[in-house]
Amino acid sequence: MPPRDRGNTAFTVRTENMLFLADAGPSVFGDMYRAGIDPARIDTIFLSHGHADHILGFPQMALLQKFITKDPPLRIYCTHTVRESISAITQLAFPEAADGLNKFNWIELAEGPRQSHDLTDDIQLTTELVFGPPYMPVLGLRLDFFDKNVSLAFSADTAPSETVASLGHNCDLLIHEASFSATMQPDISPELFFHSDARQAGQIAARANAKRLALVHLGNLQTNHRRVLTAEAAESFSGLILVPDDGDVIQLDVAGLSPAAAAL
Ligand SMILES: [Zn+2]
Repeated sequence: MPPRDRGNTAFTVRTENMLFLADAGPSVFGDMYRAGIDPARIDTIFLSHGHADHILGFPQMALLQKFITKDPPLRIYCTHTVRESISAITQLAFPEAADGLNKFNWIELAEGPRQSHDLTDDIQLTTELVFGPPYMPVLGLRLDFFDKNVSLAFSADTAPSETVASLGHNCDLLIHEASFSATMQPDISPELFFHSDARQAGQIAARANAKRLALVHLGNLQTNHRRVLTAEAAESFSGLILVPDDGDVIQLDVAGLSPAAAAL
């Protein structure tokens, strides 16, 4: 559930020749508009798994994109399970968008071993199964920007996972979920919910040797106690720890964080 002042977890990656969206929960359209991003310009989508808070914005995206001629067409990277799910939801929710689904370039990702795809000559996408529920395969993500010599990794929704530490090896930014707080919610075992707390996110970031860590997928309690989350992660991780607001922009090819989204 998104906290009061936040949307569902999602992020975009903008380069000179790509506008990439990772996950598309029900709030994603408004979130993008508020961040100055035109959803019509998204050219590549990655969906980590099929839970509602990560896919329910897709039918609107399908409807919007149906009326846009893209060359090359919109690319969608997801598992077969997620493709089936979002196609069915779109057909139910926006039947008029259903025939547009065939226009898209679907790239089905394995629900298991690591695999890589070239997004451009200089950008590589790598995915691998992380520690989600057995009934819901969840893929972690790594993006390498070889021309810039920078990289990012995204845990998606997961219990602490060595796969994430490995995917994030030496990355410039690890975007890791912190659904719980170890100190404020000591009686909860995040693993039982296939999630992590901020202390565990810090441990994974340290094992990955990431340069920066962004904590996401927060509830109301965590959002209102950012310093607690930062302190938990800092027990293990000595790099820069961010708890971004919606719309914050992190420039990977320079050090730092600027609060306002650059107009696209
Ligand atoms: Zn989620």
